[in-house]
Amino acid sequence: MQNVPMTVLANARVIDGTGAPAVESATVRIEDGRIAEIAAAGAGAAAPGGAIDVGGRTLLPGLIDAHAHVSSDHSRSPGFGPPPPRKGELPRPRELGYFILAKAASAMLAAGITSVRDVGAYDDEAIVLREAVRLGIVEGPRILSCGRIISATAPGGAIFTTMYREADGPEDMRKAVREQLRRGADFVKLMATGARSVLVEDPEPAQMTTEELGAIVDEAHRLGVRVAAHAEGLDGARLAVQQGVDTVEHGLSLHREPELLEAMAARGIVLVPTLTTFHDLADRFTSDFPAPLVEQAKRQREEAYRTLVAARDAGVTLAMGHDSGPPGDNAIELVRMVQGGLTPLEGIAAATSGSAAALGLEDIGTVTPGAVADLLVVDGDPLADIRVLNRPENVWLVLQSGLPVAGRGHVPMQP
Ligand SMILES: [Zn+2]
Repeated sequence: MQNVPMTVLANARVIDGTGAPAVESATVRIEDGRIAEIAAAGAGAAAPGGAIDVGGRTLLPGLIDAHAHVSSDHSRSPGFGPPPPRKGELPRPRELGYFILAKAASAMLAAGITSVRDVGAYDDEAIVLREAVRLGIVEGPRILSCGRIISATAPGGAIFTTMYREADGPEDMRKAVREQLRRGADFVKLMATGARSVLVEDPEPAQMTTEELGAIVDEAHRLGVRVAAHAEGLDGARLAVQQGVDTVEHGLSLHREPELLEAMAARGIVLVPTLTTFHDLADRFTSDFPAPLVEQAKRQREEAYRTLVAARDAGVTLAMGHDSGPPGDNAIELVRMVQGGLTPLEGIAAATSGSAAALGLEDIGTVTPGAVADLLVVDGDPLADIRVLNRPENVWLVLQSGLPVAGRGHVPMQP
């Protein structure tokens, strides 16, 4: 890694990720990987010597995907992985998957995704990739992983195999939490309800008892890690909120009980609506799923959009969670949140500071003094057209901790 103690980005239109309006013609000074100062220089002011002139482009926090499955399984990413095997070819070595993971990491970074929260991967793939990035072996976003998802014994376990750790009874739930920390998990994910993609699972009732879910939350919090709860039906969502989880994943049924949204807002529980995953089942991969699941997804999609607006109106912190593929297309979720009723500033806040809140990291996701300088500079005006943020060709510069790592403007800056 180069040692760049100070970087100055001049002539930037800054959207700081807090929901505040854009600041025109600003200069952002970075010191030791963190933002030291944002100064409004005034239109037409000359860039200070040694500064990178970003030419009036929009500068914002790097985007954060708060619900991803960091996996070499590319079934939701047509065209991203290797071509399908043909008869007569030797079996593909399993280890090819690690190269697919490295490709996913660089694709996300090139799209301006600087942090990712993995909410369940097969084997320990997300933790392996996290370590590869952390150790500087491959370039990629900062990754937080839950290890395996803690689920009650359920049909989903037969489908999702090593992505799940099935457990039953409060004591086994506590052991399952401890096992994830032993694997290197950064937080804990649980299934409060079944999953919409499993034919014989009804996603409506709670899948765990109060004692089981409560034991997971208690054990995780006692040991200092956060809890994410997959919750589709209302009973599971209510149980998760009542037992004090930190984030609710999907949460589409919450519009039916406004008191729960109010409780989430009051307690700082973040909602990750994952609109894209409902589109996947409702209209993108319809031939891959039995018809009843496609019909169910259509109903769920409508509820998810209703909950998005109801949660915003209730003051719940929202986060961007793609829960789909291909890697690098993550900000389609941001586009959908804005199409669903958030203002562009609200959407950007969800994809930056809101997602940072979901990750439990206070020093990323904003362009404010003291924040880690994970930044994105794009062509165009995302406040006029949010789709600007989901076009990799618009990415001019991506910085991690103040160091340029991707974007069209990256290469010319090399000495
Ligand atoms: Zn998911």
